[in-house]
Amino acid sequence: MLFRLDPALQQLLARAAELAPTVDATVWLVGGVVRDLLLGLPIGRDIDLAVEGDVNQLAPLVAEAWGGHITARHPPFGTATIVVDQWLIDLAQTRTERYPRPAMLPEVQPAPLALDLYRRDYSINAMAIQLAARDGQLLPMPLFDPLGGVADLAARRLRLLHDQSLRDDPTRLLRGARLASRLDLTPDQATAAQIAAALAAGYLALLTPERIQTELCLTLAEPDPAAVVALSDQWGMTEQLIPGLRWTPALAERLARYRNDEYGIAALAPAEMVMAGLLLYDLSDDELAMFLQRYHLPTTIRHLINDLVSLRRLTAALTAAASPSELDKLLQPYSVPAIAVLHFASNAPIQPATSRYLREWRPLRPPLNGDDLRALGVTPGPRLGQLLHELRAATLDGLITDRAAAEQWVRQQLANS
Ligand code: ATP
Repeated sequence: MLFRLDPALQQLLARAAELAPTVDATVWLVGGVVRDLLLGLPIGRDIDLAVEGDVNQLAPLVAEAWGGHITARHPPFGTATIVVDQWLIDLAQTRTERYPRPAMLPEVQPAPLALDLYRRDYSINAMAIQLAARDGQLLPMPLFDPLGGVADLAARRLRLLHDQSLRDDPTRLLRGARLASRLDLTPDQATAAQIAAALAAGYLALLTPERIQTELCLTLAEPDPAAVVALSDQWGMTEQLIPGLRWTPALAERLARYRNDEYGIAALAPAEMVMAGLLLYDLSDDELAMFLQRYHLPTTIRHLINDLVSLRRLTAALTAAASPSELDKLLQPYSVPAIAVLHFASNAPIQPATSRYLREWRPLRPPLNGDDLRALGVTPGPRLGQLLHELRAATLDGLITDRAAAEQWVRQQLANS
C-alpha cells in the first residue's frame, strides 16, 4: 500500500525509518492516511506518524535529514510538526489518554502502539503500518489492525472503540458525521446507540465553542457539506449545534448551484465563506443572532452574516433594478463574498445580473479619478465626491465610454453648476 504514496513522500518516510533506530524508536504511518490508502483515495498534505520512542530526539534529526523545519513542538506531549515540501507531517509519541472529566482535554502517558490505537476515535482510523527501509527505499510491511478497521471499512461501518468514547471527547460526534458522510459509512448498532445517548445526555454542550467551531470549519471543507448536515439532522445533532439549520431540498439546490457555478463566480470569493453563507442563508434573523452570540467567529464571517441579513431582503429590489447603476447602488455597501452568497442562494431571475455585477460592474473604474477631476478645476469637497459617484454611474450605464467623453461630461457639469 505504501507504494501508492507519492514517490517523494516515500523517500521521506524511508529516511525517517532509517533514522528511527538510531534513537531506539519505531515509526508507524497511522490514521487517515492508512484508511485512505486502503480505500484507494487520494492522500492529502497531512501525514500522521506515530512514534514508539522519543519524538523530542527523533524530530530534529528527521527534520534536518528531510531539509524541512519544525513548525510546532510540544515536548511534554512528545509531538512535533514538520513542514517539508508540500507536506505537513505530524510526529506523535504513542500514548494512552485518560479523561478526568467529560469533554476536557486528556491526561496523556507514553504507551505502546496498540494502546495508542485504542485511544483513537473510530476503528477505521485506528490502523497503522510500520515504516521500515533499506537503501533509502521503503520495505513492504503488513498492516497492523488489532481493532478490526479493515473489516469495518469493507462493511462500510463506523464503529467507536469503547463505550466512554463520546463522553470523553464529544467532538468525535462531529468527526463521525463527517467521516460517515464522506465515506458513506453507517454506524453499527452499538455506535448508533452511543451517538443517541451522547446527544441525549447533552455532551456537546460541554465543549467550548472554539472546539465546536474548529469541527464546523472542517465540515465546510468537506466535499459535500450538505450531506454532512443531512446526516447530522438524522442523528438529531444539527439542532444542538446550530439551531435553525437543517437540510432542505432548497439547501441542496443552492449548493449544487455553487458546485456548477454556471456564471464563473465561485473563484471571486473564499470557498469556505460562500459555503458558510449558503448553509446559514435560511436561518431567521434571530437564529443568526444567536449563532453569532454563541460562536466567536472571525470578523470576516461576522461581517458576512450581518451583510446577508440585509442583503437577502433586497432580492425584490434587485430583480426590479433597471440599470447597472441602480444595481450598483443597492449592492455597493456589501462585500463580494456576501454578494456571491446571494448569487448562489437565488435562482434564475437574479443570477445574470449579480454575475455581471460581480465580474464587470463592481470592478469598473470610471475613466477619471479624483486627481483628474481636480485638474479639470473641481474643488476638493463633497461636490467632487458627488461628481465621481455620478461619473461612475454614467460609465456603468454606458453613457460615458472613454476619457474624452468623461472630460466633456465633467466640463458640462461644471458649466451647469
Ligand atoms: P481527515 O481525512 O478527516 O483529515 P484524519 O483521520 O487524517 O482524517 P486527523 O484529524 O488528521 O484526521 O486525525 C488524525 C488521526 O488522529 C485520526 O485518524 C484518528 O486516529 C486520530 N484522532 C484525531 N482526532 C481524534 C479524536 N478527537 N479522538 C480520537 N482520535 C482522534
